[in-house]
Amino acid sequence: MKPIYSITPIGGVKEIGSNMTVIKTSNQWVVIDAGILFPSDDFYDLRYLIPDYSYLDENLTSDLVITHGHEDHIGAIFHVLEKLPEIKIWAPAFAAHLIRAKLEEKGKKVFIHIYDEKSLLEFNQIRIKPFHVNHSIPDTYGLVIQDREKIASTLYISDFKVDPLASFEKPIDLNSIKEFMSSSLIRLGLLDSTNILSPGKTDSETELTHDLDEIIVNNHERVFITLFASNIHRLKTIIETAVAHKKKIAILGRSIKFYVQAARELGLLSFDEKDLIDLENERLEGKKVLVLVSGCQGDFHSALRRLVDGEVPHLKLRPGDLLVFSSKTIPGNEKKIGKIYNKIYEQGARIITAYDKKIHASGHPGKEDLKLVYKSLDLTDLAPIHGESYFLQKHIDFVQTNFPHIKTHLIYNFHTLSLLSSGDIKKTSEDPLELVFIHGQEMVIPKKKISERRKMATQGTVLISIKPEKTQAKIRIELIGLPEIEMKLDALKDLLSDKLYGELKNKDLEKKEDELKIETRRFFNHFLGYKPVTVVHII
Ligand SMILES: [Zn+2]
Repeated sequence: MKPIYSITPIGGVKEIGSNMTVIKTSNQWVVIDAGILFPSDDFYDLRYLIPDYSYLDENLTSDLVITHGHEDHIGAIFHVLEKLPEIKIWAPAFAAHLIRAKLEEKGKKVFIHIYDEKSLLEFNQIRIKPFHVNHSIPDTYGLVIQDREKIASTLYISDFKVDPLASFEKPIDLNSIKEFMSSSLIRLGLLDSTNILSPGKTDSETELTHDLDEIIVNNHERVFITLFASNIHRLKTIIETAVAHKKKIAILGRSIKFYVQAARELGLLSFDEKDLIDLENERLEGKKVLVLVSGCQGDFHSALRRLVDGEVPHLKLRPGDLLVFSSKTIPGNEKKIGKIYNKIYEQGARIITAYDKKIHASGHPGKEDLKLVYKSLDLTDLAPIHGESYFLQKHIDFVQTNFPHIKTHLIYNFHTLSLLSSGDIKKTSEDPLELVFIHGQEMVIPKKKISERRKMATQGTVLISIKPEKTQAKIRIELIGLPEIEMKLDALKDLLSDKLYGELKNKDLEKKEDELKIETRRFFNHFLGYKPVTVVHII
């Protein structure tokens, strides 16, 4: 049986990040989101990972629909455009603004079709209806994908929260979503698993106002607040409170500057230029000031890390300063952030985190929120997305326990769900393509090269150049990332020279280089206990 349409995630359904899902009909592929995943620390200065977009069939792929402006949903667009320069991009206004700004930084211009809740995106055999949802960045949408006969409706919401108290934007309208899907035989949900381990409800962004206000008002010394830079509503709360209490604002760090500017340009954030201190040209001394600092995850290149290490010119932490972490620690970053906490205390400053005060709310639904969603939506089927494998299985368990009438489908990247006119959903799979590593100026780097980087970083490098002369060779040895061992190097030179003029005398150049490399690695292994990366050149 030919499917009405099918759904294949190629990123984001086994890891949190690098979201990309392909909706396939017989003559058209529509892609939802194109995001990046930030690497964990041990990837040696790689910038990010993205889904393998070589999968996208250039003869079929025509449209890219973006749900919101987070990097794990828009960060790979640059690369998709390299392969598919003609792809038509649809996005909400704020995401479109961010995409354009980021692409312009890389010298690319692109036209984006803006959609909002009133829109209905029409494609050949399917249509997509956007529904506004709350999240940790403004202007986020869930999408209902529906065939023209309305047999199969799929609700795709990778990132959302249930926030009935939302005061910045209106809350998710579950009734309207239910109604739009109601006439379909298949009512499939592809829903957010990020907070499936959280038992209760996610706090409302609005509930944070009280404690943030108290912190800003009660601290007369300098207050530094770090947060996820794209959380415009949080920035708005903080900035408005500071201004109301006659505090000046300063911004430290590229990413908060970038998002504040974007939000001001779109009218999502407004404040008077006179309330802003330019850290490049003005000093903070003697001023009541609130400094917004990028880098709440303690990344090495971040403004926060530079601040605590005293590397920001004219701005040193001192006793009396207060550092506020209006954020959560992303699992894996605990050590980096712990180090930063230590350094702050060592300088006599104080810290407030979300453990002390209600100053951070997640952008994703907890279990109680999901219960409300499943009660309200009348889904027939569910496939969890936006989570690591463990989260996806936990989400399945949760639904099977609480909503046994919903059929569950555990899928990973490169599994395909085919929606059939019989009302069934068939799961198939193909060999998964691994995420692609990006480094430097948006360059792809092969996986093999990463293991070379790892070896060089952990085992050091030996560079040997050899110029053979009549009876002996001139040998130069350079060590990178290895201890100075001058005495031993002379012994190595003798060893190499003996071998070159002895058993290797009549071998070809390549064989000579290979054998000397093996000899060198063996030599170092003898007293270091490991074999460094070794390069031997015979000139
Ligand atoms: Zn998001």
